[in-house]
Amino acid sequence: MTSTDRVLAAVDAAAGEIVDFTSELIRLPTVNPPGDGYPECAELIGRRLASCAFDVQYFAAEGRPEHTKQHPRINVIGHRRGRSPRPLVHLNGHFDVVPPGDGWTLDPFAGTVRDGKIFGRGSCDMKAGLAAAVYAAEAIRRAGVELNGSVEVSGTVDEESGGFAGVAWLAQHGHIDKSRTDFVIIPEPLYVDRICIGHRGVYWFEVTTHGRIAHGSMPFHGVNAIEHMGVILERIRRELMPTITGRETAMPVVPPGARHATLNINGIDGGQQVSGIQTPCVADLCRAVFDRRFLIEEGFDRTRQEIVDLLDRAAADVPDLRYEIRDLMVVHPVRTPDDSPLIDVLDRGLKRVLGRSGGLVASPGTYDHKHVTRIGGIINCVAYGPGILDLAHQPDEWCGVDDVINATKVIALALMDLTGSTS
Ligand SMILES: [Zn+2]
Repeated sequence: MTSTDRVLAAVDAAAGEIVDFTSELIRLPTVNPPGDGYPECAELIGRRLASCAFDVQYFAAEGRPEHTKQHPRINVIGHRRGRSPRPLVHLNGHFDVVPPGDGWTLDPFAGTVRDGKIFGRGSCDMKAGLAAAVYAAEAIRRAGVELNGSVEVSGTVDEESGGFAGVAWLAQHGHIDKSRTDFVIIPEPLYVDRICIGHRGVYWFEVTTHGRIAHGSMPFHGVNAIEHMGVILERIRRELMPTITGRETAMPVVPPGARHATLNINGIDGGQQVSGIQTPCVADLCRAVFDRRFLIEEGFDRTRQEIVDLLDRAAADVPDLRYEIRDLMVVHPVRTPDDSPLIDVLDRGLKRVLGRSGGLVASPGTYDHKHVTRIGGIINCVAYGPGILDLAHQPDEWCGVDDVINATKVIALALMDLTGSTS
């Protein structure tokens, strides 16, 4: 038997443990917000890593405002040195999950396994991926293969809310950094036969229009800020939307609709509280928050300028229209280079395990890739893991047992291949 055959057999032999560990992780409701149960979940992962011969360290996100006594932000990293320290392959998974929401037909935190599926909040996004990461490394050890390099597995917090106390914090403190880390694989649920090479950019901004208060019976004495926000919204609909939806990225973003630039209005607030007692007043303030997803080809500066230009034109055309724009969040797009060894190696693994080549995809949203590349300086990063993207954050979320086992195999083969340990 070759070492590859032995490792694949070791994954099959561990199938029950992999599923059980996924269920165990789901049974800890690490709901974010607010960030429940993080220390317990970090310890659960840490104990499993220690039993798989990893050296385990815990990292509290000291200095982050969201790291509080009530909701501590605790990350865990297991490190297992092979024959040499490099290359170092780091497998990262977030263990926070979004709130369950309504519409479940079973307990979102029971970790039920039925009909070849593991159900529960976080099953697909991404506790199955974390289990796959741990057992990919463990199968190699059980098969008696020593890597010509090292492997790390991290469980991190807050990906769903931006990852600042999680992967960003670890990258800022040098734990995920190009000076020590060569490759990063994030087993997010982007289909078991797809390799995810990055994501679009995000620009959240707030626009405020300022009017002038006056008696509602004589509105001509005032300036209505809501009306002026209406002007802006109409111009966005008429002028900006056709332009940006006409643009298409060369990145293989899924679903295809997200290959175009998009804009969503998150919320709007102006004038008096409509549920309260009303007085006759002209609204002197209106605010709206927008979520613009931009393409790597557009870039942030152009994206922002286009919006400022539109607002300036509205202000020039409409008497008394006064506006303010405030940046709330900017996430730059990232893209794994086409010649990254990660793509090749995962594709080889997919051919071996699933009998077919893996297509490339890019994420419509963002994930921790941005911190790995932009803070950690590591360009060799992809997302590859079990689960169907569309099921993430949905009621009755599930991950196929076959998916988890196959992804574990592909990641194990990638660990061997990247460290030149295949025979
Ligand atoms: Zn996720």
